[in-house]
Amino acid sequence: MSDKLIVGNWKMNGGLAANQDLLHAVMAGLSGASCSVAVCAPALYLPQLQQLAAQSALRWGAQDVSAHEQGAFTGELSAAMLREFGVRYAIVGHSERRQYHGETDTVVATKAQRALAAGITPIVCVGETLAEREAGHTEEVVKRQLAAVIHTNGHCISEIVVAYEPVWAIGTGKTASPEQAQQVHALLRAQLKAATAQAQRIALLYGGSMNAADAASLLAQTDIDGGLIGGASLKAADFLSIVAAASH
Ligand code: PEP
Repeated sequence: MSDKLIVGNWKMNGGLAANQDLLHAVMAGLSGASCSVAVCAPALYLPQLQQLAAQSALRWGAQDVSAHEQGAFTGELSAAMLREFGVRYAIVGHSERRQYHGETDTVVATKAQRALAAGITPIVCVGETLAEREAGHTEEVVKRQLAAVIHTNGHCISEIVVAYEPVWAIGTGKTASPEQAQQVHALLRAQLKAATAQAQRIALLYGGSMNAADAASLLAQTDIDGGLIGGASLKAADFLSIVAAASH
């Protein structure tokens, strides 16, 4: 990958007025950026993103997408609906959705498939819990999670983005070390290489408490092509520092 990709995940934060301030500050700071930048907002605010960011370099995405195409799925949003609001990315399989909404590897793989079919790039999250890491199961867990997506999506796999997000690092302030992250990214790259000749162009993001202080050392790793940023994406200065680190 040449250009890095930095994606903010606002989670369930924001409001019309706060979003507007944050977006204006982020967009104003993007002029010197030489990486790709996106924010994944709560779905209700996607029209606001479409309105405010359409003329800027900022891209936007959703935090989830339905595994179904359309029909009697109360409360869900289809990939086609998201696409109507200019959505470029959809996070799928975030650990908070796996944990609180019981999303299985199969559901996550189908969500990725729905996104791809609508022209949306799925950002497929994989990552082990602390207990899994301590039991020596990190490799097995992340490979199993990614294998489901590869199996369901076949040759389209070259169109996805993968985010390695160790669950123990998300929202905890305990960022993985560059070596820990690179080790897992290398495994994921090898798995993708076995599935497609295009593996090198698949962006592998690191996510988990990435911040202005540790972004540069993480992003310098061979197989780390960008970041998925939660908490630090809610403050323009912090987010833009990470964008700056990715622009070197
Ligand atoms: C995330 O939720 O995807 C994430 C990486 O969160 P944080 O940066 O807050 O750990």
